[in-house]
Amino acid sequence: MQISLPTDTDGYLSQECPSCEKRFKVLFGEGSEEPISFCPYCGHKGRDCWHTKDQVNYIEATAADVMLGQELKRLEHELKKASGGFLKIEMKTETPTAGTPPMETDEMLGILRFPCCNETVKLNRHERHFCIICGKEFDMVASEAKRIFLSHKGVDKARVFEFKNTLALLGYDPWLDEDAMPAGTPLERGLLKGMQDSCGVVFFITPSFRDEGYLETEINYAIQEKRTKGDRFAIITLQFVDADGNVGEIPELLKTYVWKKPKTSLEALREIVRALPIVPAVAEWREGIEGVATTQRTKSTSTELSVEAKTILKATTTSDGHILCPRSLGGQRVQVGGKQLIPDQSPRTVALWIGGVEDLQRRRYITDIGHKGDVFQVTREGYEAADSLTDD
Ligand SMILES: [Zn+2]
Ligand SMILES: [Zn+2]
Repeated sequence: MQISLPTDTDGYLSQECPSCEKRFKVLFGEGSEEPISFCPYCGHKGRDCWHTKDQVNYIEATAADVMLGQELKRLEHELKKASGGFLKIEMKTETPTAGTPPMETDEMLGILRFPCCNETVKLNRHERHFCIICGKEFDMVASEAKRIFLSHKGVDKARVFEFKNTLALLGYDPWLDEDAMPAGTPLERGLLKGMQDSCGVVFFITPSFRDEGYLETEINYAIQEKRTKGDRFAIITLQFVDADGNVGEIPELLKTYVWKKPKTSLEALREIVRALPIVPAVAEWREGIEGVATTQRTKSTSTELSVEAKTILKATTTSDGHILCPRSLGGQRVQVGGKQLIPDQSPRTVALWIGGVEDLQRRRYITDIGHKGDVFQVTREGYEAADSLTDD
């Protein structure tokens, strides 16, 4: 026996918590295979207890219709057979009528996806919710989501890509509409997930943009995130101006939020970075620079070498290119071509000569081939620097 219940226009069915009596809607045939086990509002745990009173009444009545109806008909038949002769028994079967199934209404509910179980529900969004499958608690306000959604319409793709690349370089994690659709994901559900993983959305309104309702779903999801996350979510609308002063039309739904009219792309970028609830990566030394213009290394640096460093470099480049700096009972040595360069072992003198070696190493004129700080070899830069020394 199969009893079907109607869903709302998006395919959701109402359910109700037996404990807090609040309603939510679930999407059947998608998401988790596991049964509903928790109330998304109060975390109440239970199985097969989520149908609304109307649904239960309808299911019982329908079941009664089918089961009882058959039984009563059989009984009536038996009685008729038995009632020949003097005794007349009459029975009129009155099976209960199931009536019409409870109607689903399209109320204004928020849509929420539980990433733990890939389950999507409709509900009145509160500050915290529980996954209806595993019971995991979600704090909707203290969102950790840090992605940035860049919403655009076809024609502006090249421009939006520029922003995406620049924002990524600044340490952000931007994404575009098409990234929301890994194979098989319906666009809306992909968008919803992406929006929930984000801390802000940027709507690029270019002069060619006419408000024809394409952005409606994206804007609605963005507004929903803004209501839940508050300061942890930014809606940034940028209205670009072309050379003739033309602007695109701001969608009706976005007019309740502030929008900016940047004159240049750099100004637009500043507006985005300023409005986002997360700050870009802290300026820090990088590992290496590639593909970026660098200033040409000047030779003048070698003239700033100390007398000791110059002496070591000259001696080394004119002999076998090696420096030995062993420290033994006899004291510290800086030895080049078998010759000790440190004239005396006073701490000051030793410090000056060791400082010279360290200075050459810092400038990469010599390299530590023993990796213990006692054997060095002159580098290409070292020979170049030595050549420039002899020039002056
Ligand atoms: Zn509940
Ligand atoms: Zn879950």
